[in-house]
Amino acid sequence: MEKSCSVWMRRLMATHHHPLLTKKLPPPTTLNSSPPLYFPSLRLVSPMSSHRRCLSTTTALVSSSDRDDNGTVNQDSKKVLLKGMRYAELEKWVQSHGFRPGQALMLWKRLYGNDIWAHCIDELEGLNKDFKKMLSEHAEFRALFMKDILTASDGTRKILFTLEDGLVIETVVIPCKRDRTTVCVSSQVGCAMNCQFCYTGRMGLRRNLTAGEIVEQAVFARRLLSAEVGCITNVVFMGMGEPLHNIENVMKAADIMVHEQGLHFSPRKVTVSTSGLVPQLQRFLNECNCALAVSLNATTNEVRNWIMPINRKYNLGLLLETLRQELRFKHNYKVLFEYVMLAGINDSTEDAKRLIELVKGIPCKINLISFNPHSGSQFRSTPDEKMIEFRNILAEAGCIVFLRPSRGDDQMAACGQLGKPGETQAPLFRIPAQFQTLLET
Ligand code: SF4
Repeated sequence: MEKSCSVWMRRLMATHHHPLLTKKLPPPTTLNSSPPLYFPSLRLVSPMSSHRRCLSTTTALVSSSDRDDNGTVNQDSKKVLLKGMRYAELEKWVQSHGFRPGQALMLWKRLYGNDIWAHCIDELEGLNKDFKKMLSEHAEFRALFMKDILTASDGTRKILFTLEDGLVIETVVIPCKRDRTTVCVSSQVGCAMNCQFCYTGRMGLRRNLTAGEIVEQAVFARRLLSAEVGCITNVVFMGMGEPLHNIENVMKAADIMVHEQGLHFSPRKVTVSTSGLVPQLQRFLNECNCALAVSLNATTNEVRNWIMPINRKYNLGLLLETLRQELRFKHNYKVLFEYVMLAGINDSTEDAKRLIELVKGIPCKINLISFNPHSGSQFRSTPDEKMIEFRNILAEAGCIVFLRPSRGDDQMAACGQLGKPGETQAPLFRIPAQFQTLLET
């Protein structure tokens, strides 16, 4: 077990280069006695390696149905997935088939804009016949197939999609009273991070999603639900997966989503969340103008090492110092800290006071989130009064802080409830001695 953990850590270290990271890993005190971070039957996918549909820019555009079992491209039937291309790539591709750039713009607008959200060639009204013929021969429109849609009592919708390889992902649409509806998209099938309070983490990681599969969740949500719930204005990358573990495809998908002639989400309303992958977080802040959320959830390394194993690699001090440094160069930008409240674990007055100290000097907002129980979970939710008390301590110290009630939990559509772990699940770690009585009663 100990060996598997160190192998995992070394693999991740080998793929990340960060000046602050050259120091040694914190001693694996908790690792020594903990189960591995993933289970052997599932392959751990590193952000740089990976699934056959997530290789280079060119190969990522090719539909998986055009590959043989080894993942190589069948040159005779090569089709590109249109939603896997940025606008500039689409324009180039259209030109490479002998058509004008203007045709690319007309196609782009039909894929993403004008309330069309085209899913097939028949929905491309107004495009010239030859261009449509070329598209039917060389392009793929769909990456997702709807399997089911569930509606929770508060109006939250959970959409289940089947991917071309048969795996299933979940997307959540959360209508708000005000003029705001949010779509929560998945970035991976499962997740390698194994946060102990999260149902998705129990699945382990199956694979990264392609940019096309991510973008299409937002397109599908608008197409299916706009008439019912109003305009979908916000996107959060808080569904299945650790988005920055799939950073290439996530940044590409975010770029496509904010394009002015297409889906046209405001970059401030597209939020990418991370459990704290420090090098990718730096890259994201430098290369992407969308919003960032960091899932914090603890105020000591001891607790965070247990509930979020990524902390054993990038600890609280390193994570927060990196944010402090990086945000000095961002104008008018606030990071969102998410803090899932776990009764008796991270919700004490001392935690609130430590949290105030930890975020000092970081332009931020803090969301306090109710924990959403799921089967096999060892944690309980913090009572409302205690959440309010915790919020008040932060607010009195000058923090911008919000309480976020649970949404969609009766359909397992709430934060941390997505996915379906199989028979083999990621391990639960040994409970630290001081919490044993609390959690075992
Ligand atoms: S909370 Fe996010 S990062 Fe952690 S296991 Fe769940 S999906 Fe992965």
